[in-house]
Amino acid sequence: MGSALQTPAEPAARVLGRVGRSDGPTLVVTAGIHGNEPAGVQAAQRVLGELARRGTALRGEFVALLGNRAGLARETRFLDEDLNRLWTAERLAALHARPGALDHAEQREQRELLAELEPLLARERVTLLDLHSTSGGGPPFALAGDTLQNRPVAFALGVPFLLGLEENVSGTLVEHVGALGHVAVVIEGGQSRDPRTVELLESALWITLVSSGVASAADVADLELHRERLCAAARGLPAVIEVAHRHDIAAEDEQRFEMLPGFEGFARIERGTLLAHAGGGRERPVHAPFRGILLMPRYQRQGRDGFFLGRSVSPLWLSLSAALRRLHLERALGLLPGVRIEERAGHVLAVDRRIARFFAAELFHLLGYRRSEERGHQLVVSRRNDRL
Ligand SMILES: [Zn+2]
Repeated sequence: MGSALQTPAEPAARVLGRVGRSDGPTLVVTAGIHGNEPAGVQAAQRVLGELARRGTALRGEFVALLGNRAGLARETRFLDEDLNRLWTAERLAALHARPGALDHAEQREQRELLAELEPLLARERVTLLDLHSTSGGGPPFALAGDTLQNRPVAFALGVPFLLGLEENVSGTLVEHVGALGHVAVVIEGGQSRDPRTVELLESALWITLVSSGVASAADVADLELHRERLCAAARGLPAVIEVAHRHDIAAEDEQRFEMLPGFEGFARIERGTLLAHAGGGRERPVHAPFRGILLMPRYQRQGRDGFFLGRSVSPLWLSLSAALRRLHLERALGLLPGVRIEERAGHVLAVDRRIARFFAAELFHLLGYRRSEERGHQLVVSRRNDRL
C-alpha cells in the first residue's frame, strides 16, 4: 500500500481526493453537505494539494468527499430537502428499500455518498470531520454528540465545543456516524463567504489529521500555526456550551422568517430580547426564552432552524461525567424512583417526569444519555455509543 494520490482533485467528482494507506486509522472529511457552503470544499482541496506537494507519508488514510454536488453547483443549500437531516435509521432503511429512480435530489446525493462512506465506516478507527460554515458572522466552533471518543478530537480544535445539538436536530450525518461508535465532529468555520473561513477550516483539517492519528505531529510542520489561528479566532469564548433551545420555524413560514440584522454567533442574549419576526411583517415577534448564548442565527432563506440558544458548561462537569460513565451505572439507574429500564442492557430508559422531574435531564446527560423521545409524561433517554 503506497501513499500516492489515487484520485485527482476534479471539482465535480464525489471523491475530492484520497491519500495514504488503508491499513491505518481513517479520516473522512465531508465538505459542502450544504450546497451554499463552498468554503469547506476549498479547504479540503488546499490540504490535498499541500499533502501531494509535500509528499507526506501518512500513517492512515485521508478521504475527502463532496456532500451536495448539485447544491454546490447551484450555490444553494439544497434543492428538495436538507441533506443533513436524512440520516436517521428510518430514512436510511427507506433509502435502501427504495429504487434509486424514485430518489429526489438530496436522496440521490445521499445514496452516492453512502456508497463511498459504507466501506470506510466498516473500518476500525474512523474519524469523520464534517466541514460547514454559517450564514451569519461569528467565530468558529465544533459540534458533536457528547461521547467520550468525540471529546479529544473536538477539544484538539481549540474552539468552543457545542454539545446536545442532536437532541434538537435529528438526522445529521455526524449523528449517524457517531451512533456506529466512530468519532464524528462538525466544524463550523465562520461566515460562508468570508475568505478567512477557508483558512480556519483548513487549520481544523490539519489539526484533525493529527488528532485522528492519520498524520503524526512531526508530519505537519506548521501545526502550531494552525492551532494558534483557531485559538485566536475563538479567544474569550466558553470552552463547552450545551445547546438548550432550538427555535423551530413553521414549515409555512420558512420563506418569511426574518432575524433582526446584526446578530452574530455567540452573542450573549438577555431573556426577552427581540431576535426575529416569525413571518411577514412585525406582528409575530420572537423573543429569547431565557438568558443564554445565541448560536447559528439564520440569515438565509432556507432551513427551519431559526436560531439556537446555549449555556456554558463547566469543565468539572465534563470530567465528572467521564468518570461516571466508566462506572457503567446503567442497570443501577433502574433502581431510581420513576425510572424504568426499557432495554435489557440499560441503554434505553423511560423516565416518569412526574416522579423524577428534579434530576431527569441533567443527571442523564451526565451519564451519557440523550433525550430521544417524549411520550406524554414520559421522557425516553438512550445511551450514546461511548467507546470505553
Ligand atoms: Zn452547514
